[in-house]
Amino acid sequence: MSTLLIEGKWVTPVEGGTIDVINPCTGDKFTTIERGRAADIDLAVKAAQRALDGAWGRLTATERGRILQRFGELILKHNEELAQLEAKDTGKPMTVARNDITAVARYFEFYGGAADKVHGQTIPYLNGYNVSVVRVPHGVTAHIIPWNYPAQMFGRTLAPALAMGNATVLKPSEDACLSVIRLGELAQEAGLPPGALNIVTGYGHEAGAALTAHPGINFATFTGSPEVGVMVQEATAKNSVPCVLELGGKSPQVVFNDADLDKAVPAIVKAIVQNAGQTCSAGSRLLIQQDIYDKVMERVSAGFAAIRVGTPEMDLDCGPIINSKQHGRVSGFISDSVASGIPVVAEAQLAPGLPAGGYFVKPTLFGAVPRDHNLACKEVFGPVLTAMPFTDEEDAVRLANATEYGLVAGVWTENGGRQARMAQRIQSGQVFINCYGAGGGVELPFGGMKKSGHGREKGFLALEEMSTTKTIVQFYN
Ligand code: NAD
Repeated sequence: MSTLLIEGKWVTPVEGGTIDVINPCTGDKFTTIERGRAADIDLAVKAAQRALDGAWGRLTATERGRILQRFGELILKHNEELAQLEAKDTGKPMTVARNDITAVARYFEFYGGAADKVHGQTIPYLNGYNVSVVRVPHGVTAHIIPWNYPAQMFGRTLAPALAMGNATVLKPSEDACLSVIRLGELAQEAGLPPGALNIVTGYGHEAGAALTAHPGINFATFTGSPEVGVMVQEATAKNSVPCVLELGGKSPQVVFNDADLDKAVPAIVKAIVQNAGQTCSAGSRLLIQQDIYDKVMERVSAGFAAIRVGTPEMDLDCGPIINSKQHGRVSGFISDSVASGIPVVAEAQLAPGLPAGGYFVKPTLFGAVPRDHNLACKEVFGPVLTAMPFTDEEDAVRLANATEYGLVAGVWTENGGRQARMAQRIQSGQVFINCYGAGGGVELPFGGMKKSGHGREKGFLALEEMSTTKTIVQFYN
């Protein structure tokens, strides 16, 4: 079956070509996807415009919402099948994949319900005038998503865009998009009119770059690496369209000496190990108040030692890294850090009987990392936790804010005043207190400060990002 969805039909690319899909647990090719390029993007953008001018553009907000909610129900009905695809493509444990698919359904349920609850404003003006400000879709929206949570990203980026009435063109990651293709089929089954959702699989430098530069788009949203984020920002600036960027992170978990460690430790381990650390909001820096440093490290080490890495079918705590390039990068971070004298305090275990050729790494805890070391500043995007001591609250704030990122932070303390001060002073898009949500649910606005990006997804703020306003002035006197 083809993997390009244009105007409701699965088509082959204009110039032909395929991309191999590799199983991260074995390194073997198991299928292919289409290699869409500029000509296919052009067809997709034009199809989206026709959808806006046609059936999709004429639907009421309630009708759009009903389709999205129906889509959400279909996703739940196909949870197991979608989870199998997601797990095979990314290597993540089956339980995690199933939860991911449930989260996708939740995006369509939430934004389906929200579609007809977005209100405008009226503004008092001169005598004889009615002035209203209404929310309208951008028009054709471009969506570029990564490989770490292909299905969840599909829901996160598309559900609010469709709820607001945009017609969308999605460029999923060439490294993992099989669940996305199946979701595209289910969207049609749910009644989404042709052209409201178009999917072009392909490489970033071909299909992705062509999409952000296409004169027919009115808005773009991107999740991925900071380097490509800058390219997307440049391309959309030249195209004079707004963009939302969701980039990386180096999120701190700040543990004060009055923290409830029974709650903190399991959450700290999970926040870096889940999805093999391939999460932009992974809690990758562990900042511990000096006087409890040894105690916390001992308990986190025990947590790491209990983690087991395996295949989706083994359904353990963590799977492989997505591909050989990322595997080399994460392994390189670990070996370079060891070579530079940073002590490995704990490692997780690989399950016995893993297939040869898989991209597995042992989740690793590094201790006493100098504040200017690569491990303390750079995003690894793997299951590597960097621990550092701090002295007092002032020092904790300084250290928490000491990277170029600002996506998520965790603060562990029983002191209410300190909780409030830390939440206020940490520079990040989300702060979790005595919990850690790695992005949290669909209800919670999510997005970065500093180099972690700009714009917000999730929550009602996503509906604002995915729309613009029109001021209507009526003279009646
Ligand atoms: P990437 O930024 O290269 O790819 C993300 C998406 O952008 C993919 O769909 C890709 O095809 C597309 N893309 C690539 N070049 C493009 C271009 N010139 N124009 C438009 N689109 C383009 O990320 P990656 O290679 O998948 O991963 C590399 C690093 O990115 C990771 O190590 C990690 O640091 C980061 N990353 C972050 C997130 C996140 O959620 N913030 C997710 C995945 C990866």
